Amino acid sequence: MAFGSHSYFHGALHFLAAQSLTAGAQKDAHQAATDACASLSTLLGASIVQSSGPAYDLAATNAWNLENAEYQPTCIVFPSTAAHVQTAMTGIYEAEANFAVQAGSHSAMKGWNTVQDGVLIIFSNMQNISYDATEDTIILEPGVHWHDAYVALAPYGVAPVGALIGRVGDVGTGLILGGGLSWLSPSEGYGADTLKAVDVVLANGTFVTATATNEYSDLFRALKGGGNRFGIVTRYELSAVHTGTQEDQAFYGGTILYDSNAEAVLNATAKYVRDVNDPNAVILMSFINVITDGVISPMYYLWAFYKGSELPTEIFGDFLSIPSAFSQLGPLSYLDVALTLGLAGERGFVQHFGASSLVGDESLYLDAFYHWNNFTVAHQEYFNMTTLAFTPIPQTQIDAGHAKGGNIIDAPHGQFAAVQIYETFNAGITEIPADIHAAIEALLTSIPPSPGLPLYLNECDSEQRVFESYGDYELLQTIYAKYDPTRFNVEHCQGPIGL
Ligand SMILES: Cc1cc2nc3c(=O)[nH]c(=O)nc-3n(C[C@H](O)[C@H](O)[C@H](O)COP(=O)(O)OP(=O)(O)OC[C@H]3O[C@@H](n4cnc5c(N)ncnc54)[C@H](O)[C@@H]3O)c2cc1C
Repeated sequence: MAFGSHSYFHGALHFLAAQSLTAGAQKDAHQAATDACASLSTLLGASIVQSSGPAYDLAATNAWNLENAEYQPTCIVFPSTAAHVQTAMTGIYEAEANFAVQAGSHSAMKGWNTVQDGVLIIFSNMQNISYDATEDTIILEPGVHWHDAYVALAPYGVAPVGALIGRVGDVGTGLILGGGLSWLSPSEGYGADTLKAVDVVLANGTFVTATATNEYSDLFRALKGGGNRFGIVTRYELSAVHTGTQEDQAFYGGTILYDSNAEAVLNATAKYVRDVNDPNAVILMSFINVITDGVISPMYYLWAFYKGSELPTEIFGDFLSIPSAFSQLGPLSYLDVALTLGLAGERGFVQHFGASSLVGDESLYLDAFYHWNNFTVAHQEYFNMTTLAFTPIPQTQIDAGHAKGGNIIDAPHGQFAAVQIYETFNAGITEIPADIHAAIEALLTSIPPSPGLPLYLNECDSEQRVFESYGDYELLQTIYAKYDPTRFNVEHCQGPIGL
């Protein structure tokens, strides 16, 4: 897939045209949602289906991206069982209502985790976490936040392959459906690769359990990267990773902050992405511009960890030799590792993500930095923070995914970096101004993915055609047509485009 100017903008226009056609063909959205909410309220009761009141207000404004916190769903369904979700989805389907699903609420994409004139299903009453030692399986309900999972499972010496950020009120299980990049990914694969089974309610309300070997194995594969398009997951069964207990301190690493030396840090990043293929090594390199009262402060954070008792110099030496403003490294338990990264949890700001994927020499990384930095300088009055982050995807991660049955992302052989281009707007801005939207599109076009690489769904701009970048795009389309033949999901729920 080319995320070059032509295909990108053509894609966006096609999407908008398709949306308005769909809207015209649909029954009036407001009436459909009102009908669905009335019938669901009768079937499920007033405490599960709410259209106003404190619980409604809290849930409606819960979304991390302020743009999403401003939607007012016609009603919110608070299921506590899969059967509730099944009833809700059947009612939504029959009323032809628009809908959305929200787990941890951390989607940056506008409209992907909430809905206006529609029914929102929110999982705040489904937050059970358990560990089955006999099967060595972690079972999560969809409302679980990664922080809670890490804390609950640490005494057993196990962890799921979840978010890098483990803080209260943090990222949730929706991460798995888009892939899932974790500190454990170099050894275990994407979070989705560690799935053993998923309970799913399909668009028409049918409940199925999908595994790699049962009759729903195709659906199982599509869920590993298919986002919210293939049904509503009501239970995740995941392989447990034996990370050790708090006392074990099986890891070493922490945070290094650079406030200058961008070029040296970029060179070290490019080299790491290209050369390091050790399942025990992991980094996240985030170039952050913090903007306060018109002053841009560069804060380039490296988070680096190694499963072992040190950061080996043959792997991390380039980073370690660059003068830093702050460094905190030492032995850590996995829970310590998971709780290290503490940025970007605050609500109340408009947030925007965009994705690229890079493989190649240092000049590509310098070029990306140059475009991102110029963009920040040119539009600094709109932002309190802009970020350009690199997550290396080593071959060991891709191999681990294959060994576990494969995912629909199907990255090609070879290492690359998932690149996140991310802006937090100033307080008081409630939607992205049109000229800034255009500037962001231009920025994304100026950092195109290297040919053949998949974009990362969880870090994309909603107009990027992520599915088309997958190795198994055609299979994804076939599986979608099989499980949602009336195309209810793509016509009634916002989410990734291209199906
Ligand atoms: C501060 C921050 C840190 C992040 N850190 C990481 C990281 O370390 N690694 C990483 O890979 N990504 C990370 N991300 C990106 C993250 O993976 C995505 O934002 C992800 O979609 C969040 O999942 P959620 O459950 O919190 O969000 P939600 O917005 O609730 O859900 C995300 C999407 O999944 C859908 N969805 C959620 N649950 C279900 C379900 N049960 N069935 C069907 N559809 C569902 C929603 O409809 C929505 O489209 C981070 C994002 C933020 C904002």
